[in-house]
Amino acid sequence: MSRVYNFSAGPSTLPEPVLRRAAAELVEYGSSGQSVMEMSHRSPEFEAIAAECEERLRRVMSIPDGYKVLFLQGGASTQFAMVPMNLMGENGSADYIVTGQFAEKAAKEAQKYGTVNIVASSKDKTFSYIPEPKDIKFNADARYVHICQNNTIYGSRYPYLPDTGSVPLVADLSSCILSEPVDVSKYALIYAGAQKNVAPAGLTIVILREELAGNPLPGTPTMLDYSTHIKSDSMYNTPPCWCIYICNLVLDWLENDIGGLAAMKEYNESKAQILYDYLDSSKLFKAPVVPNSRSMMNVTFVTGDPALDKEFVAEATKQGLRNIKGHRSVGGMRASIYNAMPKAGVEALVKFMDEFEKNH
Ligand SMILES: *Cc1c(COP(=O)(O)O)cnc(C)c1O
Repeated sequence: MSRVYNFSAGPSTLPEPVLRRAAAELVEYGSSGQSVMEMSHRSPEFEAIAAECEERLRRVMSIPDGYKVLFLQGGASTQFAMVPMNLMGENGSADYIVTGQFAEKAAKEAQKYGTVNIVASSKDKTFSYIPEPKDIKFNADARYVHICQNNTIYGSRYPYLPDTGSVPLVADLSSCILSEPVDVSKYALIYAGAQKNVAPAGLTIVILREELAGNPLPGTPTMLDYSTHIKSDSMYNTPPCWCIYICNLVLDWLENDIGGLAAMKEYNESKAQILYDYLDSSKLFKAPVVPNSRSMMNVTFVTGDPALDKEFVAEATKQGLRNIKGHRSVGGMRASIYNAMPKAGVEALVKFMDEFEKNH
């Protein structure tokens, strides 16, 4: 068997030790006589897995008391609706900063439930930068401010965290959660689809200040009310059991093999640096995102010639450098170098880019 370097934006590469452990435990978990996939979510074995997963996430991210951790389904896209349904209030308004396609989708969805103020946008320059604080005017009466902290498609990320004063900050961390330490106390609510940096597709992590829940808009379905899941410890209905189990293994790897989020950040920075240094010195490839807003997780680049981009992607694929094609809406290339991408993968990519450049 030979594993490729998988630069997919999501679902994406998982740590190989995690996959091997899951394989070893696949048919029988411990001495339970069953696979985790077959267990009742209310069995003591699975309840222990879910509890350990939450404890680990709390420890790894230093989540303060007063915050609830929820393991939900529906992807980050369901949070685009759940956030306004629970936080907007009747006749309420919210501020959105639009820095990419997902941020835009979130803003659009929220318009169904109240007034959405687009307080800043980088659409004027194809989302190649993050607006500066001085260019953003928040509304004091907004119920919350929504940001997408790392823009998976365009390859940008906030170089700072907006200061929203007493207005709760809500952030989509789908493609950057667990990539570096964050100060959870600065956020009112964090959500993330797990399939980028944490687990297989099917799990959505929500971390929220407990007091934010409990006032959903009239008509909010039970399943889309945060308090339903808070009251039942994410076991109101069947949770995504297998994903929670893998999430727990990934957190174990992060904590014990990597050494926590500070060490993870250092490793991720060094990977991104290799790629951006090469891009900035290349005569063929160019990184479209301005330097201070560049993502550490999703590195986008172009040659400027769509036909050449296509040739590059095809040749890279043959070299075992997979899923390097940019998002269908923007073209070019994108290397997603999440936590589980080894540095050797990034080095192999840069070596190949350098050869490609010399041949063209
Ligand atoms: C992938 C992604 C989404 C959409 O996630 P789903 O889980 O597919 O709904 C939303 N926001 C960001 C930042 C993403 O990277």
